[in-house]
Amino acid sequence: MFNKDKFIPISAPSLTNLEREHLIAAYDSGWISSLGEYITKFEKSFADYVGVSYALTVSNGTVGLHLALLALGISSGDEVIIPALTFVATANAIKYMGATPVLVDIDPVSLCLDEGQLQKAITNKTKAVIPVHLYGHPANMARICDIAQKAGIHVVEDAAEAHGAKIDNQIVGSWGSLGVFSFYGNKIITTGEGGIITTNDRDLYQKIKSLRDHAMSPTKRYWHETVGYNYRMTNMQAAIGYAQLLRIEEILLKKQQIYHWYKDLLRPYPSLLLNQSKANVSNVYWLICVQIQNCSENERDLIISQLDMKGIGSRPFFYPLHKMPMYKNLCSDFDIPITIQVSSQGINLPSFYDITHDEVKRVVDTMVLILSDMGKI
Ligand SMILES: *Cc1c(COP(=O)(O)O)cnc(C)c1O
Repeated sequence: MFNKDKFIPISAPSLTNLEREHLIAAYDSGWISSLGEYITKFEKSFADYVGVSYALTVSNGTVGLHLALLALGISSGDEVIIPALTFVATANAIKYMGATPVLVDIDPVSLCLDEGQLQKAITNKTKAVIPVHLYGHPANMARICDIAQKAGIHVVEDAAEAHGAKIDNQIVGSWGSLGVFSFYGNKIITTGEGGIITTNDRDLYQKIKSLRDHAMSPTKRYWHETVGYNYRMTNMQAAIGYAQLLRIEEILLKKQQIYHWYKDLLRPYPSLLLNQSKANVSNVYWLICVQIQNCSENERDLIISQLDMKGIGSRPFFYPLHKMPMYKNLCSDFDIPITIQVSSQGINLPSFYDITHDEVKRVVDTMVLILSDMGKI
């Protein structure tokens, strides 16, 4: 039954008959585990889409980051530079290696790692940098790769939130030595749980292919010379991913449209800062981001709970990583002023494929009402 006041979630996967048909084909084939033709088809089509030689499916984006760092030989005592504003998995993967995450501040427009801060954070222990294409905006890869190359450190792109984003027409996941994507249910395209690693480097490709499958010898079955992992994706997940990738242009177009709907509706409220984009980039707007200027973290949290009571899903921006107990010694507030400010006043709003213009209007109208009651606009 149609209900104009039904709850509007922040995200929801877009699953059509195409995904269903491929999923059932995988199921009916009997190849329901991690061997099967969809794994190869999905890897090939994803590599082609990103414009790299190799793509390797994995169980999720987090283990993708872990495999990337394993393949690069990151070890204890090493430092890996990441932005202070990201999902916790970026830092956790570094901890899995016994290495130290080094947090740097973000750029206020892209919300991605600031290249100037990257340069300053490099020491003789630095082995890699993981730029994160946050909320769909690509990091400044040309500058980051340049700095990294001069310093002799590796670049692993955390592209979990930015399938299809581009800088100067070159797609993310093809800039660094390795790119890592997530296919969790709320990402731009999904396989339920899942991830993929992209690379042009044959050596890294072979190492990762082996490590994700218990490091089994390619010539002698059930013989293992190092400790490997089971980080594989199933053929059924790959079937869903294959179908999703066939629809990615349509999905990205809708993301642009949703952004423009919000932009038009929020135009009268200059104190509400919507996603911004740098020149020469194509932002894929994974999530709509609104920064409420002159808003404390408590007020922001109140807005989120009032939206929820009025039937609208939203979420806070990521917290600066050093606010979490296990990362509390990594830096202080003074080191990352932009992250501190952006994080405390940011809200992500509904931006899923099936959202309608009426629903976006309801989100904006409701938020405007809450904010004007609070004297914020
Ligand atoms: C989602 C996400 C991950 C982890 O991906 P999972 O598939 O959920 O393990 C890593 N980094 C960022 C920035 C993410 O948003």
